[in-house]
Amino acid sequence: ITILGIESSCDDTSAAVIRGRTLLSNVIASQDVHRKYGGVIPELASRAHQQNIIPVVDTAIREAGIELKDLDGIAFTRGPGLLGSLMVGVSFAKGLSLSLDIPMMDVNHLQGHISSHFIDLPDRQLAHPRFPFLCLLVSGGHSQIVLVKDYGEMEIVGTTIDDAAGEAFDKCAKVMGLPYPGGPVIDKLAKEGNPKRFKFAKPSVDGFNYSFSGLKTSFLYFLRDEMRENPNFIGENKADLCASLQSTIIEILLNKLVRAARHYDIRDIAIAGGVSANSGLRRAIVEEGVRRGWNTFLPEFKFTTDNAAMIAVTGYFKYQRGEFAPMDVVPVARISRM
Ligand code: ATP
Ligand code: FE
Repeated sequence: ITILGIESSCDDTSAAVIRGRTLLSNVIASQDVHRKYGGVIPELASRAHQQNIIPVVDTAIREAGIELKDLDGIAFTRGPGLLGSLMVGVSFAKGLSLSLDIPMMDVNHLQGHISSHFIDLPDRQLAHPRFPFLCLLVSGGHSQIVLVKDYGEMEIVGTTIDDAAGEAFDKCAKVMGLPYPGGPVIDKLAKEGNPKRFKFAKPSVDGFNYSFSGLKTSFLYFLRDEMRENPNFIGENKADLCASLQSTIIEILLNKLVRAARHYDIRDIAIAGGVSANSGLRRAIVEEGVRRGWNTFLPEFKFTTDNAAMIAVTGYFKYQRGEFAPMDVVPVARISRM
């Protein structure tokens, strides 16, 4: 079974081809236009998707060494994401599905992030978590603990009540005058800094839920006060600020994950989403896993941020179950369940 995956939920246009669960190609066109605005501008994003989608799909087909007629199905991201961006991928999938007369599978972007753990590479077998496992899904728009029972069967057991972890990274980076997206920049600067130098507020939230808006505010006020004394405070302490902030975010994330793992008595623990690229988080989760006897699963770097490989593999499992999208399917900006 050969599936084409299409991802266009935010600012990356991506197409991938998967045969079974073995990835044949994964092409990503990132949009640079948003950098100068310090965030994603929806209108510019959908225009860039329109320009990119055909060349990106063409390249993915070519790099996979197949032809369009070899495809058995098309998987696309239905949501959550920016409506105008999603629309480009959904419309493209419909057109191609009609012209090739093959089914299409609508994919929940967040299930996609988690399903990056099911991908195999042609030259390398990756380790896959066993069901049921817990996945800490941390991205630009979401922070969730998900109980994964089967390929298409996932339950959100904890979620952020305000900002996502990625948003906390990005917003705090902005306050320090760092470029967008701030997550990777903070990660890099944190390597040179002292994570114990500064303390920031840690929230208390019920259950396995998260909150990051208090941390952002505490960070902002702390800097404002320090800058009053010393206008060069940020410049002089950048590495320590980044290291301390990052370690606070990681501590918050791990605390609830550990509790959830204990509650559900689960030892297969995975992380996914853009923030799972964070080197500090990756190290911390491995260390925690060693202490607690977990089997820890870190995604390949190229599958952490948005990509179509994760959409294609999710679509492959939907294809196997015969779960196809109708021709009148529409994108959705928000999805509250998995
Ligand atoms: P969602 O998946 O919730 O719809 P999204 O698709 O925009 O949101 P992703 O592409 O999964 O989000 O992740 C982007 C986020 O990951 C950004 O907030 C970015 O700062 C963060 N990020 C990427 N790399 C790192 C890193 N090394 N350290 C911390 N954060 C990172
Ligand atoms: Fe994403």
